[in-house]
Amino acid sequence: MASTLITRRKLIQTLSMSGAALLLSPSGLLAACNTQKRGLGVALVGLGYYSTDLLAPALQLTKHCHLAGIVTGSPDKAEAWKRKYNIPDKNIYNYSNFDSIANNKDIDVVYVVLPPSMHHEYVIRAANAGKHVWCEKPMAMTAKECTEMIEACKKNKKSLAIGYRLQHEPTTQAYRRIINTGQLGKIQKVDCAAGYRDGRTDHWKQKKELGGGALYDMGVYAIQGARFGAGTEPIAVVSAKTSTTRPEIYKNGLDETTEAVLEFPGGVLATIKTSFGENVNHLVVNAEKGTLEVRPVQQYNGIRAKSPLGEIYHDYKVPMQQAMQMDDDAQAIAQGKPMMVPGEEGLRDIHIVEAIYKSAASGQRVVL
Ligand code: NAD
Repeated sequence: MASTLITRRKLIQTLSMSGAALLLSPSGLLAACNTQKRGLGVALVGLGYYSTDLLAPALQLTKHCHLAGIVTGSPDKAEAWKRKYNIPDKNIYNYSNFDSIANNKDIDVVYVVLPPSMHHEYVIRAANAGKHVWCEKPMAMTAKECTEMIEACKKNKKSLAIGYRLQHEPTTQAYRRIINTGQLGKIQKVDCAAGYRDGRTDHWKQKKELGGGALYDMGVYAIQGARFGAGTEPIAVVSAKTSTTRPEIYKNGLDETTEAVLEFPGGVLATIKTSFGENVNHLVVNAEKGTLEVRPVQQYNGIRAKSPLGEIYHDYKVPMQQAMQMDDDAQAIAQGKPMMVPGEEGLRDIHIVEAIYKSAASGQRVVL
């Protein structure tokens, strides 16, 4: 069993060894980290839940990038973040003056953490401002938008990475290696589910025009689980169904739950399910030499895989996935290497999302 434990104690030891100020209280630790200006400067765009609870704390743990700036429409949030993270006024932008970030040498990377319907616009504006771009999942609303985002980054010679944190996660990487190296023999069938009970009624996740619906949000994890479990790319959506038990919240055909069957080369079928109505979280791969089960398959820690080859589990604390993701991406940019999870990976999933919705609407098989 592989085991990795990265603790605050280790971080403090690392800082001590690197000669950083020895401030051992949590707020002192943040201050010590943030004044170090390690590696690339990152500006977070959109200071909602994910930026506040996961990405900003993760940027205090990273070794190859640091929180350098913010973009927000809320002056109150700007003030609070400025004080908490010691961000200079010149690195604080709003949505109107965002493009002038082009002139700011402290910012190397713009990380777009907005509702999905806004990813297309902000990724393109960031690339045109001459910044590398990290973009949260789901990459965008349509494959056409994804393609335009990839082209904008290429045109400006900037890197584009999608925030699929699990692709940087050690248990996920290990089970994918087992599948990809054929250690379980021929894959026979796959089942993946990713969802949770969302009690909110008026968030962007419940608004179609902002990129809501379970398939865009959690469905991309189920799609990725199916792709990783099959070890290849799907060739068709065989069938799909969207539904809701709360039509007063999930209106105008917005999916609270989506189920689909994907077909992979060789006739391998994968069932996927995603939902805002129930907690579901697993990947089961039936193969010639046994079954691989990953439970949970998507979570901020605790990913656990079991197969006839043994158990895989890595012990780390939240928000280590996000720190690993941003460090991988920052290092790749610094070394001029390709992104581990490029725009093309986000495009792949949105192409499948579109085909699933098309199959659900038509009742037909849709070839990918
Ligand atoms: P959130 O609603 O908490 O935050 C969204 C932010 O966008 C807020 O600060 C809000 O003020 C701002 N915003 C600007 N214009 C807006 C508008 N017109 N409508 C609504 N909000 C607007 O959302 P979140 O959970 O932080 O999600 C943001 C992105 O991060 C999404 O793409 C989501 O899928 C992604 N995310 C990823 C993970 C992950 O594990 N990779 C986890 C959570 C969220």
